[in-house]
Amino acid sequence: MDICRTSAELARRMASAKRIAFVPTMGNLHEGHLSLMRIAREHGDAVVASIFVNRLQFGPNEDFDRYPRTFERDCDGLRSAGVDALYAPDEQEMYPVPQLYRVHPPPVGDELEGTFRPGFFDGVCTVVLKLFNLVQPQVAVFGKKDRQQLKIVRGMIQQFNLPIVMVAAETIRADDGLALSSRNGYLTPAERTEAPRLYRVLRQIADAIASGRADYANLESQGRAELHRHGWAVDYIAVRTGIGLRIPHPEGFDHPNVLIVLGAAKLGGTRLIDNVDVTPKVNED
Ligand code: AMP
Repeated sequence: MDICRTSAELARRMASAKRIAFVPTMGNLHEGHLSLMRIAREHGDAVVASIFVNRLQFGPNEDFDRYPRTFERDCDGLRSAGVDALYAPDEQEMYPVPQLYRVHPPPVGDELEGTFRPGFFDGVCTVVLKLFNLVQPQVAVFGKKDRQQLKIVRGMIQQFNLPIVMVAAETIRADDGLALSSRNGYLTPAERTEAPRLYRVLRQIADAIASGRADYANLESQGRAELHRHGWAVDYIAVRTGIGLRIPHPEGFDHPNVLIVLGAAKLGGTRLIDNVDVTPKVNED
C-alpha cells in the first residue's frame, strides 16, 4: 500500500486505475471501517482510503484535539484489507488557505445531528467534496452507521452532478450489539457494559413499529425514558422516513418498511449515535 501525502502523488499512483473506489475516514480504524474497504474492493479495480481528521466538522467544545490518532495501526489494517493507496493529507494540504467557501446542505442538515452539532454537515460536505475532487473516485463507500451523513452526501452527489456512485455499507456491531465506533474507546469498562442499550432501545422501537404500532411519539419518549433511567443524557430518539428523513405521518400512513429509528445520547463524556431499519433491507433507499 502506498501512503500518499499529496493529491499529486496519489494521481501518479492511480494513473492506470480505471475505476477508483474510495473510502474516506478519520482514522482510528476498526472492523466497521475495514468492512467498507472490502466492499470497495468489489466495486473498483483500485481502492483508495483516506485518513484526515477534519477540523471543520468539530464544534468548539468537541473532541478534535483528543480524537484518537493511531496512524501506524491504521496502516496495518488497511494493508490487510487490500487497500492500494492511502491518502493522508495534512491540514496544510487540505486547507492551504482558510476555507471560506463551504457546502451548506438543505434544512435536513439542521435536524437530528445538526441540531446538536451546528455546522457539522457543512464541515462534512465541504471536506467530502474536496476529497472527491482530490481523489477523483468513480465509487465512494459510506457506512449506514452515520445515516444522516450518508443521505446528505448522497444528496450532494446528486445535486452537484458528481460522477460518483455511492455505495452504502451495513453497520458492523460488537457481539452485544454496540455499533463499532472510534469513540467507543473513550468509554470506561462500566460504560462499555451499558453502551449496547442504545441499540437495544432503537431495536425495540423498530420491532414495535414492525408489529403494527404507529404511535411514534410515544415510542420515542419511552425510549428516551429508558435511557434516562440508566444514566444517559439523550439528544434525540427519532422515527423518520428512510427517504428524506422526514417525520412520518402520525397516523401510520407510511409503510413500516420505509421507516428508520435514529438515536444519539451521551454516556458520561462520550456521545454515541446509532440507527436501525424497521425492517432490515438489503439496499439503502
Ligand atoms: P469515520 O472515520 O467515523 O468518519 O467513519 C468513516 C466511515 O466509516 C463512514 O462512512 C462511517 O459511516 C463508516 N463507519 C463507521 N463506523 C462504522 C461501523 N460500525 N460499521 C460500518 N461503517 C462504519
